[in-house]
Amino acid sequence: MQIARVALDVPLRRFFDYRVPEGERMSVADIGCRVRVPFGQRHKIGILVELATDTDIPLAQLKPIESILRELPPLPAAWFRLTKFCAAYYHAPLGQVMLSTLPAGLRALAPPKPRPLRQRIVDVPAQPAPLLTCEQEAVLTSIAAGNARAYLLHGVTGSGKTEVYLRLIERCLAVGQQSLLLVPEINLTPQLEARVTARFPNAGLVSLHSELGEAARSRNWRAALTGEARIVLGTRLAVFTPLPELGLIIVDEEHDSSFKQQDGIRYSARDLAVFRAHDSGILIVLGSATPSLESWANAQGVDGSGRYRLLSLRERAFAGACLPLLRCIDTRFDKLQDGLSGALLLAIEQRLVRAEQSLVFLNRRGYAPVLACAACGWTSHCHRCAANLVLHLADRCLRCHHCGFEARVPKLCPTCGNQDLSAFGRGTQRIEAVLAERFPQARILRVDRDSARSRKQWEVLLARIHGGEADILVGTQMLAKGHDFPKLTLVGAIAPDAALFAADWRAPERLFAQLMQVAGRAGRADRPGEVLLQTQFPEHPLYAALIRHDYPAFAAMQLKERQQAGFPPYAHQAMLRAESPRMADALGFLASARAQPVSDEDLQVIFYDPVPMRLSRRASLERAQLLVESPSRRALQRFLAHWVTQLEAIRAPSRLRWHLEVDPLEF
Ligand code: ADP
Ligand code: ZN
Ligand code: ZN
Repeated sequence: MQIARVALDVPLRRFFDYRVPEGERMSVADIGCRVRVPFGQRHKIGILVELATDTDIPLAQLKPIESILRELPPLPAAWFRLTKFCAAYYHAPLGQVMLSTLPAGLRALAPPKPRPLRQRIVDVPAQPAPLLTCEQEAVLTSIAAGNARAYLLHGVTGSGKTEVYLRLIERCLAVGQQSLLLVPEINLTPQLEARVTARFPNAGLVSLHSELGEAARSRNWRAALTGEARIVLGTRLAVFTPLPELGLIIVDEEHDSSFKQQDGIRYSARDLAVFRAHDSGILIVLGSATPSLESWANAQGVDGSGRYRLLSLRERAFAGACLPLLRCIDTRFDKLQDGLSGALLLAIEQRLVRAEQSLVFLNRRGYAPVLACAACGWTSHCHRCAANLVLHLADRCLRCHHCGFEARVPKLCPTCGNQDLSAFGRGTQRIEAVLAERFPQARILRVDRDSARSRKQWEVLLARIHGGEADILVGTQMLAKGHDFPKLTLVGAIAPDAALFAADWRAPERLFAQLMQVAGRAGRADRPGEVLLQTQFPEHPLYAALIRHDYPAFAAMQLKERQQAGFPPYAHQAMLRAESPRMADALGFLASARAQPVSDEDLQVIFYDPVPMRLSRRASLERAQLLVESPSRRALQRFLAHWVTQLEAIRAPSRLRWHLEVDPLEF
């Protein structure tokens, strides 16, 4: 009898065996097809992973497959290797990994009606490519010389990295290969999609991201699998797209933490992309103005590996464009009024006179981070989280940024009745108000997740900025990424210092990347840009490197500190987190996790103490974590594979949830 082994989306570390019904012949050519099977009282769509002749299940209990879905080509072998690697490396059940990478429409028992790819008009003239700069030319020549397959492209903002990507894609198209282009955020896809399509109008470009409707996502995924689409542009989930003729992977803004999935299967799309390229023997380019320190170390061979070849673009590509001039404003002397220094106010005023745009950058939305009563000490606190409720004057509410809880702004102090409540600290709304008072004639536009909640709102805001409808922008990092604003010549970062001394040791890396990125908005065209950093620590080495646009110096400094402290990339980590209504249960679970017997081979693994997380309560659940670490990635992996089965056997309280995250980014 033929036995079909099927991967299903269930949290178990095994496949499921079914009988191939009489009259149905299956062959190895069917492996990778979807099948419909009975499961308990219900039905499920699974993936055929193997055909066998024997099974451990008593034959009488073996149920038959209901149908095999052959309307799509089977998933290719490389896709199987990728999902298998993902499951093994992140210690997730393989069936879950496999099924979760399919568009929901292809996992559904009643799939949405397939829609054909948008009809494309053939022979649309392609936009001509610009002449390459010398630096771009050199980069492309080294890649073509081809004695390495993985590259880190370090290029300052506006240095023409995207043009390099386009040329690499062009080469792939010419030899009949597909390209996969990964970007960190959905917001970045429309403009890049437009740019790639203009250059290659007939390559059947499709995009894949979570905001696409189910029918469109299934359709685009299908076009990738059948080879109809030659270029796929997507966010992290697109790393799993089956591409039978893949020849190139590009990961743009490779340092961005959005490449890390933060729930479910916590994978890094960048790291999986590197595996995928290596496994298929194809070219991969990771691009960034501020590479992650892991990638930088890999390109330096600091940890002995030298896995990537480093390529650099040091100058802006656009004729006449130079890098913005950065300057610290010492706020110990230039005292802040309502969060703004005299120097910044003056610089904004000059821009208003010259009809240029300014951007005031502050990574904190809302009006003020907390409302408080000076008489009794009451503060606006979320009763479900260990966090303050943020004052949002625009919506007249207090809102928790962690669980979404909302309350009306109280007129009186809830504990003592005091009428005089004060808003402490500053968010984008407050800065907007201050600027409006200061520059009543100026048109001010606030851009953050409150003013651009939907994609539509975001596009409307972008159009207004481009249409010259704003003199001053007040924005969070949302504005920092990838957008060219030709009239923008001034950026003021008004409160960057907090991240300098944050408890999270990755905070300086993120701060540097963020400031570099936001600085990159200034003066992209032929107008020189100026960037002012309001700080109490103008001599801080991070700012000193930033002002010189010297990422390599900053990275060297950080790597040295990490080496001394034994932090990644000089150590490899995994985080076990537990959530429960009671902190004692969460900590108790972690304590028993820590007490599991460890084999002699695993002595290279270090356990930290179980501790409450920094945000120790979220949405009424207490949260705790346990960090494990090893100087050897292999030793850590071997240990985790064993540990995860031990963890699954621990009898935890019913409302306790836990998960394991490999290579955690946030602490
Ligand atoms: P990055 O991706 O590094 O930020 P882009 O590729 O977006 O840089 O290039 C920045 C700007 O310079 C864009 O407006 C682009 O059209 C222009 N540009 C890039 N390469 C060239 C070139 N070789 N000649 C002229 N302009 C270029
Ligand atoms: Zn009070
Ligand atoms: Zn909350």
